Amino acid sequence: MSITQFRNDSKLINIVFKDRLDRKFTIESRINEPITTLLNRNHIPIDSVIVRKNNVIIDDWQERIEHDGEYTIEMVRAYHLPDFLSLLRLWDTKAAQGKIKIREDSFYTKRMFLHNDDDGDYTATQTSFNKEEFVQYMEKTFSDGINLHNLIEPGETIGLAMSGGRDSLSLGYFLSNTKKDLPDFNISSIHVGTFSKPAETKFANEIANQFGFDFKLVNDDDVKKIFNLKVSPHEVLEFIKYDLNKSYSIGATHVIMRAAVESEAKKQGLKKITYGLMTEDIMASIIKSMFVGMPFSGPIKKSFGRFDLIYPLWSISKKELTLYLEAMVPQHNKQGSPSIFERGAFSRDIYYLVADTIETILPGAGMQLFLAQKMTNEFLKPYQYSECKNCGVTYSLSYRPEKHNIVLDAHDDSDQELCDLCKILEKHNYIS
Ligand SMILES: [Zn+2]
Repeated sequence: MSITQFRNDSKLINIVFKDRLDRKFTIESRINEPITTLLNRNHIPIDSVIVRKNNVIIDDWQERIEHDGEYTIEMVRAYHLPDFLSLLRLWDTKAAQGKIKIREDSFYTKRMFLHNDDDGDYTATQTSFNKEEFVQYMEKTFSDGINLHNLIEPGETIGLAMSGGRDSLSLGYFLSNTKKDLPDFNISSIHVGTFSKPAETKFANEIANQFGFDFKLVNDDDVKKIFNLKVSPHEVLEFIKYDLNKSYSIGATHVIMRAAVESEAKKQGLKKITYGLMTEDIMASIIKSMFVGMPFSGPIKKSFGRFDLIYPLWSISKKELTLYLEAMVPQHNKQGSPSIFERGAFSRDIYYLVADTIETILPGAGMQLFLAQKMTNEFLKPYQYSECKNCGVTYSLSYRPEKHNIVLDAHDDSDQELCDLCKILEKHNYIS
């Protein structure tokens, strides 16, 4: 797949951008470029402007820039878009002129817009790190993130759901390099082999050895037993992805993974489970919960039925984690492709793009969102959780997808004994 390449000889024309203060800016456009691409390329929200061609308002969604037109883009809202975009370095204007580079050995610049509760406005901050400083900063961010919210109690054993990807490796480094700053704890790692490639399973085992974690592999047969399946877990996922509902296949994968991890944790008598969710993962979950009207608890730790869940990577973004690994062990910093069951759903694209876009225009938005979410949760009544009568997974009684989603409508509301996946499996005669 390639983005349309404009020929080198494609001509540029100047377009006038007018804000509500009647200031004029010049934007370059290529002939034949869709107007929406032009707007998006310049971070101008489509609904913040009207576009005129030769003084007549046009439908900007349906037009390309033509060589014989004279175009103006006018803001319909009065906020200081050019100034703000210049500050964010999304526009290169006089407001952001001059040298950008502050230090030659910079490896990463952390930017935050911090909300000031006293005056209700934001302050922009940025700090640059070289590679060594960055590693230290990340490890401090990690241990502070754990200690700030008391995620680890002294002496406890924590069940770690381990994928065998680079997130697991990073978490291993973080946990072992910050040991002196954290309470004493043991890790019992649980790897669900069902949806992993053999290389990932092998790597999960190696990581456990390297960092001194207990290691338990939950394989296909275990999953089959947990769910009382008549068929293999893969057949179930194939059925869900291709026959039932494509967008539920990630959801179903997650239920299976969680059921496997929880089942092993119960066997070992573990109360606390940790998953490697990072800033954007949690942001995407919060955004989803707001958009579909689903309760969200947490965001950094939560009581979840019989378990306590913690997300020790909450304060770190995927980009930062990738850079951390690059600084620590560049040879391991290769990205595997996601499994086929993690692809395809439109909804996942939406929530992650919204989360990433919010971070682009409001750096540090995740941190603020979590703080706000924590306060909101304090006003809400506690969530209720139950355990599925078939697979034993913990699920929320506060939200039943079938009320919202006809495709998943397997049973009537009175049946509250099976998790949403097992309801589907039972209806389609996959479990005995
Ligand atoms: Zn179940």
